[in-house]
Amino acid sequence: MNRNECPHLALDFADRETVIATQNVKLAAMGQRLKNHPEWKEHLKTAGATPLDLMNRDNLAHIPTLQKSDLRARYPYPMLTAPIRDVARFCATSGTTGLPVLFGFTKHDWEVTLVRQLTRIFRTVGMTADDLVYQGYGYGLWIGGSSMDEAFRHYGMTNFPVGPGRGELMATWLKDHKYTATTMSPLWLSTLIGHARKAGINPKTDWALRVGLFGGQSVSTAFRNELEAQMPPGFKAHNIYGTTEAGGPILSISCDHSHASDEMHLINDDTVLTEILDPVTLKPVSPGEVGEVVVTTLDKEASPVLRWRTHDLVRLSKNPYSCACGRNGYPLIGRIIGRSDDMLKVRGVMVYPSQIEEIIAGVKGTTKEAWQIYVDSQEKELGQIEVAIERIAGAAASVADLEQEVQGQLKSRLGLTCTVVCHEEGALPRYEAKATRVLMRPPKSK
Ligand SMILES: [Zn+2]
Repeated sequence: MNRNECPHLALDFADRETVIATQNVKLAAMGQRLKNHPEWKEHLKTAGATPLDLMNRDNLAHIPTLQKSDLRARYPYPMLTAPIRDVARFCATSGTTGLPVLFGFTKHDWEVTLVRQLTRIFRTVGMTADDLVYQGYGYGLWIGGSSMDEAFRHYGMTNFPVGPGRGELMATWLKDHKYTATTMSPLWLSTLIGHARKAGINPKTDWALRVGLFGGQSVSTAFRNELEAQMPPGFKAHNIYGTTEAGGPILSISCDHSHASDEMHLINDDTVLTEILDPVTLKPVSPGEVGEVVVTTLDKEASPVLRWRTHDLVRLSKNPYSCACGRNGYPLIGRIIGRSDDMLKVRGVMVYPSQIEEIIAGVKGTTKEAWQIYVDSQEKELGQIEVAIERIAGAAASVADLEQEVQGQLKSRLGLTCTVVCHEEGALPRYEAKATRVLMRPPKSK
């Protein structure tokens, strides 16, 4: 397909003004589409707004944000703007608490919009139709696996839709099938490397992977670097981020140039308008500052969202619009730092689990994938937390050295005073996809 045939393709290297102009046209069209929709009218009215306010972009700041509670209140098909007979399929968030919320996709949403968004991501990381792909995201109502399948088919790759699990088999198949690309959680890759080692397979020389999209779980940069070092030379673990509400794993991706500084382009900003807002004031943050990702789907026919609060926190790049790859219509953001509702407050010190992870990952001799935070109360303000780490078998540092080092750095870098307990490798839980880093522990009996 040449660039003239698909407007989406032509916009890969659009300048920022063109992206904004595209957003404005689509916002206005969305206003027209929603103007007679009772649920949307009712929702916007809570802030004195109407769908037709979207005709003028300046009004966007006055459009109310959308939260899970707004959708839960409209069970079972919240804000579904297409007749149900036109919905081709539903996806849902994992719903760790309460009922999952359903998001509909029309045939156009699934086979055109989503495919365009994902194939732009494939182009950005240099995946090609010749790639053999090991698809390792989960299936079912979760959007990860099924959305990748659809986009791989349109892009022309050869897909092995295995999903997560079957680690021993996959360590062998990676050697025998010579997959060149993959999509999975970074924690799963870490587990697979372990399976390979046990089977006498050396990923560096026996596997052929050259590129991967790693999402579903944000890990530290140090952990990513360590994974890459164990893989075939030149292998890149690209960080990908998205949400079901935004329409899939489509919001951001690192490119060959931003990979080193671990930043991602908001690569589909022409189809999902993304704001990075201060979680308290809801005002846009400046370059270099941390804010919450808030998304507005511009092309989605069924279950669109307007200013959906993801509660995911990121740092807007200090230089959002100057990447050497030239995709400067699409601002750069850092890795997900944490969720605005995951913040721990320990004796007045505010800290995110990802900050603790970054410190552990930087201490030589600790395992990167296994660590925990134990708390013993559900109070908002905690009196004490315990950070549990592991010592890599055979590391030069002793258990006591590592405890002291991590404890010292938590104090000096985060101002956090806490207990650090170091275990030998293998003692702490491992996670295949989403890790639960903060665990409640019943108070010790006296
Ligand atoms: Zn770039």
